[in-house]
Amino acid sequence: MTGPNEAVDWRSDLGGGFTVGLIQAGTFRSDAGALFGPVPRILWDRWASAELDAENRLLQALNCLLIETPAGRVLVETGIGVRLDDKTRAMRGYEGPWIVPALRKAGFEPGSVDVVALSHLHFDHAGGLLGVDGGRAFPRASIVAQRAEWEIALGDNPRLVASYVQPELRLVQDWGAEGWADGERELVPGVSVVRTGGHSAGHQAIVVRAPGAPPLAFFGDLAMRPWSANPRWVTAFDDFPLDSVIVKDTLFGAAADEGWTIVLSHEKDRPIGRLVRDRDRYRYDPE
Ligand SMILES: [Zn+2]
Repeated sequence: MTGPNEAVDWRSDLGGGFTVGLIQAGTFRSDAGALFGPVPRILWDRWASAELDAENRLLQALNCLLIETPAGRVLVETGIGVRLDDKTRAMRGYEGPWIVPALRKAGFEPGSVDVVALSHLHFDHAGGLLGVDGGRAFPRASIVAQRAEWEIALGDNPRLVASYVQPELRLVQDWGAEGWADGERELVPGVSVVRTGGHSAGHQAIVVRAPGAPPLAFFGDLAMRPWSANPRWVTAFDDFPLDSVIVKDTLFGAAADEGWTIVLSHEKDRPIGRLVRDRDRYRYDPE
């Protein structure tokens, strides 16, 4: 097998032995007001009113990428996983499949993944690192997240407690330490991580540069949904919002000017697209 099969939600052959497949590891729900942060509802209502549930929550997909390269397989993100109790599952409005069955459905054994790259360690990105029994869900893989992210995730700042599941992260702490990144790093030829901060202290973007194709970028939770294209629209979950605004403007400018393909982290139906300059901001044009 040389690429994701027809069961995958989206795939693209970038040439040069690079393919990228979107794997959706279920969905969950987030409070709409929190997703729009400082933006008043009269401005965001048109984006979201049709999607609100009875609790004023939006439906968030758990988008992951399986990147095939000549030098190895990289999984980006792991979703919420399978190790949460029924009460938490109901509170989050979480519905699977979690990443392992979703990957298998797309034609990949978890044991064939060489690297797992995580944009950050919040519960909805790092939760799938462990299987039901607490063993490594990706036995051969190294985990790559920023050292700064691990340090803040396992620290004692009370603001962060709700976003990181510390008992779970402690179980993968040693595994994660083997793959700490400090800033930019190439994981395999053509696939790099770039520290961005903003959404979380050690948040990183993942960029694929296949020979002959425009770059493909996963900006993590700096680009969750189409409206994230406005650098000033940051969520209440962003721990360093001013950093988010600045880094979004820089990254989105490069992506717009160079025609990058963008994969949104939590958009369910049209998560693949491009960023286009629009006055003093950007617009997301889905594929
Ligand atoms: Zn997220």
